[in-house]
Amino acid sequence: MDAWGAPRRVVSGAPRRVAVVGAGMVGLSTAWFLQERGVDVTVLERRDVAAGASWGNAGWLTPGLATPLPEPAVLASGVRAVLSPSSPVYVPPSASPRLLRFLAGFARNSTAARWRRAMEALVPINGLALPSFDALVEGGVAAETRDAAPFVAAYRTAAERRVLLEEIEHIAAAGQDVECEALDGTEARALAPLLSERVGAAILLRGQRFVDPGRFVRALAGAVRARGGEIRTGTDVGGLRDGPDGVAVGTERFDAVVVASGVRLGDLARRFGVRAVVQAGRGYSFSVPVESVPSGPVYLPAQRVACTPLGDRLRLAGMMEFRRPDAALDPRRIRAIVEAARPMLRGADLDDRRDEWVGSRPCTRDGLPLIGATRSPRVFVGGGHGMWGITLGPATGRLLAETVATGRAPAELAPFDPLR
Ligand SMILES: Cc1cc2nc3c(=O)[nH]c(=O)nc-3n(C[C@H](O)[C@H](O)[C@H](O)COP(=O)(O)OP(=O)(O)OC[C@H]3O[C@@H](n4cnc5c(N)ncnc54)[C@H](O)[C@@H]3O)c2cc1C
Repeated sequence: MDAWGAPRRVVSGAPRRVAVVGAGMVGLSTAWFLQERGVDVTVLERRDVAAGASWGNAGWLTPGLATPLPEPAVLASGVRAVLSPSSPVYVPPSASPRLLRFLAGFARNSTAARWRRAMEALVPINGLALPSFDALVEGGVAAETRDAAPFVAAYRTAAERRVLLEEIEHIAAAGQDVECEALDGTEARALAPLLSERVGAAILLRGQRFVDPGRFVRALAGAVRARGGEIRTGTDVGGLRDGPDGVAVGTERFDAVVVASGVRLGDLARRFGVRAVVQAGRGYSFSVPVESVPSGPVYLPAQRVACTPLGDRLRLAGMMEFRRPDAALDPRRIRAIVEAARPMLRGADLDDRRDEWVGSRPCTRDGLPLIGATRSPRVFVGGGHGMWGITLGPATGRLLAETVATGRAPAELAPFDPLR
């Protein structure tokens, strides 16, 4: 038995027909890995494939940075955010009781000790992140992952850089494999010529990758269909009814159901004992033309802006806005990203923007995802990965499919018990 308790036995008898609610990275990965085990899958999606957070995100596959969101530094910037409208973290002045509950829990988890414990819980699944992408691609998903060669985090000064260097030390101390090197501004520009003269210090991170997330998730959907799975778009699942002979979704019955509905996970899972709040941490992105497309992501940690090369353009992503997931895109947030990034980049036309987008990171109070069985042995959830649902989506799908198909939850999932 480990610190989190022994793996739980969740169901007896292998389910043959399983419905997955949500066609994002997590739902489709789960569907694909269920197919690997011979399960017949039907994916039910209220809008379209990759219509949620899995489209306009930064596409980083960075297990070396996949850390729990609640940490002392984020809490400090959250408090500053209330005072500064241009801050990268935005909390509305009239927070709902639900948001207040989320923020109170988030604050309680933002201690160094809880961060460390949560980080240790992520290390085993982080280790499966890239091999699980390889399994998808080798298994016929017609998309690629690219080596982030290089992945550069850029700063104005060496003093600013200290925060991430210290965090990397903590990440490594928790057992995560992470290799980095400190660079000066000239060395950083040699690797990523789009960095401006304002950049005076940087960190080169090794061993990470990136994807075009929308393209990858669509290819995954194509592979699920090609293997005989059905994906029904425009199908809003309003509720699940559990009974001894299966779970009813509308008039149809399945042996088991996996809820992977992103920021809406709680709507369907609450009645099965999942009490965790899944709060929308909304982020924004857009793409711009650049004179020289970098060969890997560029991270501006002090500005909280992520840049990713996608085709011949650069996607910029950022902001953490704690608002309703269906609120309209706020153009002020796009402008805040533009103005934060502008001094740090050169040869990027930040005013020629396309694909302006807002999406909701599904955030939990303790910064850990919710993966596994609910109070019903036939209803499972997969989600709540916050900033890291692309990186961890395939690993989640792999472990969750094992849980659903074998009735045994692998040890890696113990800390992510949805009933915690
Ligand atoms: C700006 C930004 C940048 C990010 N960058 C990165 C990054 O670089 N790397 C990384 O790893 N992660 C990143 N993330 C986080 C990542 O995007 C999310 O964690 C991930 O996409 C969540 O995937 P998901 O499948 O759980 O949810 P989603 O992709 O949101 O999918 C859930 C799906 O369920 C559907 N649905 C909801 N309710 C129902 C219902 N009742 N019936 C039927 N269907 C339903 C939705 O329409 C949706 O399609 C970023 C996020 C943002 C916002």
